[in-house]
Amino acid sequence: MNNEKLKTKYPSLFDLELHKSCSVSSRIVNIGNFWEWKSCPLVAGLSAELDRLKQEIALCQLQPGHDKWTCLLTPEGSFTVEEIRRRLDKVALHSPSLPLISWCNDIPIKVLCFVWRAAQGCIPSDIALQSRGMDIDSTLCGTCIGEVECADHILMRCSYTKLIMNKIFEWCGLNKEEFNNVCELLHFAASWGRCPKKRIKLLCICYSLLWNLWRIRNDILFRGASTTICRGIENIKALAYLWLKFRGNGRVAWYYELGMEINSKNSGSD
Ligand SMILES: [Zn+2]
Repeated sequence: MNNEKLKTKYPSLFDLELHKSCSVSSRIVNIGNFWEWKSCPLVAGLSAELDRLKQEIALCQLQPGHDKWTCLLTPEGSFTVEEIRRRLDKVALHSPSLPLISWCNDIPIKVLCFVWRAAQGCIPSDIALQSRGMDIDSTLCGTCIGEVECADHILMRCSYTKLIMNKIFEWCGLNKEEFNNVCELLHFAASWGRCPKKRIKLLCICYSLLWNLWRIRNDILFRGASTTICRGIENIKALAYLWLKFRGNGRVAWYYELGMEINSKNSGSD
């Protein structure tokens, strides 16, 4: 009642209620047989609580029809995925340990979902597969053999990853940054700068970075095909450029100029 459960408002009386799942209407309509207690609340010293409950229930106006659920997130009382996502993003914005996904249309949904799972360690890295009971010979990273292969190691901490990331940041004219996990990169990119258009370009580059690093890792593991650092960097730039050109609304320079646009002073109005 009034968006609050009676069982949490009157816990002692709820303990004494014989039919825990009874409806409020069954206690109002059947006046002659109003309550069914396991033992008398008055004996248990709950007379004041019982009086408050009676007063509250007396004010209740029942409408004909079935009970229905109302979502408190929206004024209309209807549940929408968009609203719940907005609420979660709001919480994530102030919590660095939660993934702050930028759900922009420029980035394909499969990449957004991959990054969302990666930020929570839910991509099939060696350590994730082992924790699900798969027999893995070694969980050490196949590239640097320096740490167990978890999502954050593949996408943030591996020496190969760091080399590529430093080059990409250099290309964008940004200072070298040390990210310990994917969430930190997502928070950095989602709150970077003051120009939304430039921020979207940086987001595309960062998401392209994560997506390509995962593909490079899989190519090595499943096809035995290694990718040079130069080739990896070019693929990241090209993919971000293609997303912005064919999926975004803003004007985009040729892809090798994209990085320069990120931190330049005169391209904020495009
Ligand atoms: Zn490694």
